[in-house]
Amino acid sequence: MKIDAEMLELFLAQLKLCKVSPGEVVVVLSAGAEWADYAQAFMVAAQQLGAQTFNLNVSRSQRNAVAVQGRHPLVGNKLALETLKSADMVIDLVGLLFSREQAEIQAAGARILRVMEPLHVLKQMFPTEDLRRRVEFAKSLLEKAKELRFTSEAGTDIRYELGQYPVISEYGYTFEAGRWDHFPSGFAFTQGNDGGINGTVVLQPGDIIAAFKQYVQSKVVLRVEKGYVVAIEGDGMDAQLIKDYMDRFNDPRAFAISHIGWGLNEKARWYQFSATRQLAEEHVMNALSFYGNVLFSTGPNLELGGTNDTACHMDLPMRQCSLWLDGVRILDKGDVVHPEMKVSA
Ligand code: FE
Repeated sequence: MKIDAEMLELFLAQLKLCKVSPGEVVVVLSAGAEWADYAQAFMVAAQQLGAQTFNLNVSRSQRNAVAVQGRHPLVGNKLALETLKSADMVIDLVGLLFSREQAEIQAAGARILRVMEPLHVLKQMFPTEDLRRRVEFAKSLLEKAKELRFTSEAGTDIRYELGQYPVISEYGYTFEAGRWDHFPSGFAFTQGNDGGINGTVVLQPGDIIAAFKQYVQSKVVLRVEKGYVVAIEGDGMDAQLIKDYMDRFNDPRAFAISHIGWGLNEKARWYQFSATRQLAEEHVMNALSFYGNVLFSTGPNLELGGTNDTACHMDLPMRQCSLWLDGVRILDKGDVVHPEMKVSA
């Protein structure tokens, strides 16, 4: 297989950010023929930095295995799991997200980098040290906060009590033992306390339904009581789409409020779904990461140590919202105003 020069250069820069060094072991985890070019290029890049590397390839037996939380080809494969646990770094081209196996690999000290976007998105949103600094600052604020509130002129006003759950940062690379990240990304998030989320969220045209890779076209009002969506209102098609989609899981836990945070990657594009010609190949990292979005979501909270493992997860990045932590303003109508998180002009 020929290695694309541009891909190799990008992965070399990525592994340098991850501080891959001589003597380390970097395992590239892949499934079947998926991402074979990425697997090869990551191995060559790791070798150039003096690391030992190999490709652990598993077969994906279930269709759509990735779509269901915690189910992936590593389940029951003890030798593969032990191998990954003894690595210094794992490049995850399979999708271990939120699984028990991923938690085990991290606990054993291996850092994990998830990669699932096509090359043009990896290039476009490539992480920087400044992004890491701003995302880690967001994480430190969330860790101290007791209350998050966000509002919008469209009528959103919702409060999250905080403190029960940990905070996760994603800035697109990882150099700390046991730390997971997703290349590319750019946000920090946590989860409201059990029963401690109350208010109203109003989705308006231009907000994003990531599960459908499409923009909201008509106003949707979500009434939230004690951590659950109790009513979905709206005259347009979007309210019907969201309600019907969530209903079809036949799972009351689908209506729970999930992670909350905000986007900080100034290279990510809100308009990506309209601009791209390769929508089918792309994942949703532009939508989740764009600068100044409130990343509101519903469904599971396993990722943050909770017990809700419903398969219905909705990421709903919102524009033009204002957000406060304990009364300190972070966002003003969709713009980052806190000096430590603002992109310097
Ligand atoms: Fe999510």
